[in-house]
Amino acid sequence: MKIFQQANQMLPYILEQKKNGKKIGFVPTMGALHKGHLSLIEASQKENDLTVCSIFVNPTQFNNPEDLEKYPRNDKEDIEKLEAIGCDILYLPTAEDVYPGGMHSSEFDFGGIENQMEGECRPGHFNGVATVVNRLFRVTSPDAAYFGEKDYQQLAIVRKLMEIENFGFKLVGIPTFREKDGLAMSSRNVRLSPEFRAEAPKIYQFLLKAKDLCQNQDFKTVQKTIQEDFSKTELQLEYFKICDQNTLVEATSREEGKNYRAFVAVFAGKIRLIDNLQIC
Ligand code: AMP
Repeated sequence: MKIFQQANQMLPYILEQKKNGKKIGFVPTMGALHKGHLSLIEASQKENDLTVCSIFVNPTQFNNPEDLEKYPRNDKEDIEKLEAIGCDILYLPTAEDVYPGGMHSSEFDFGGIENQMEGECRPGHFNGVATVVNRLFRVTSPDAAYFGEKDYQQLAIVRKLMEIENFGFKLVGIPTFREKDGLAMSSRNVRLSPEFRAEAPKIYQFLLKAKDLCQNQDFKTVQKTIQEDFSKTELQLEYFKICDQNTLVEATSREEGKNYRAFVAVFAGKIRLIDNLQIC
C-alpha cells in the first residue's frame, strides 16, 4: 500500500494511474477502522482497479471538543488492517495538508436538510463534513466514492455537495454493518462502558420494533411508543424521527409510493450514538 501524507504528491500519482485506464474508488474515513469501514473498501475494490482510503479526524465537523479530543486514533492498527485487506493507497494527511488556507469550514446551502437531526443537534457539523469531503474529492479525483448508510443524512449531504460542486463521479451508499447483537459498528463503540455497551443494542431493537409497528400504526403513535421505550432505558434519547427517505423531511403520515426511514440519536453516558433503518 502506498501511503501519502501530502496531497500534492498523491494527486499526480492518482492522475497517472487514471491516464493508464485505472478506475479509482475512494473511501473517506476518520480511522479507528472496523468491519463497517472495511465493507466500504471491499465494495470499492469490487468496482474499481485501485482503492484509496483516507484517514483524517476532521476537527471542523466536531461541535464537542471532548468528542474530538477523545475520538479513537489508531494509525498503526489501521494501516495493518488496510494492508491485510489489500487497499492500494492511503491518504493520511496532517491538518495543514487538508486545510492549507487555515482550519475553517466553508458555508454551504443544502436546501434545509443540513439544519435538522444531526445538523440541529450538532451546529456546523455538515459545513465541516462538506468542507473536508469537498477537499478530499479534489485531491483524490475518484471515479466512485463510497459512504455508509449508517450516516444516512451525511450521505444525502454528500449527494447535494456533488450537485453543487459539479462532481461527475458515482456516489455509492453501503448498508450498515452491525455487531451480532445488532449494534451498528462505530469507532465510538470502543468508548462505551460495559454497562452502556450492554444497553446499546436496544437502539437497533427499537428501530426494528418501529418498523414492525409502522405496518398498522400511524407515525406519530409509533414515535410516541419508541420515545417511551427509550425513556425506560439508560440511553438518553436525543431524537427519534421518521422521515421521507428521499427528502429527509419529517413525516407525519404515509403517502403511497414513498419510502420512510427512522432515525435515532442517543447518548449512552457521554458517548453519542446514531442509527437509522428503512421502515417502509
Ligand atoms: P467514519 O470513520 O465514522 O467517519 O466513517 C467513515 C465512513 O464509514 C462513512 O461513510 C460512514 O458512514 C461509514 N461507516 C461507519 N460505520 C459504518 C457501519 N457500521 N457500516 C457501514 N458503513 C459505516
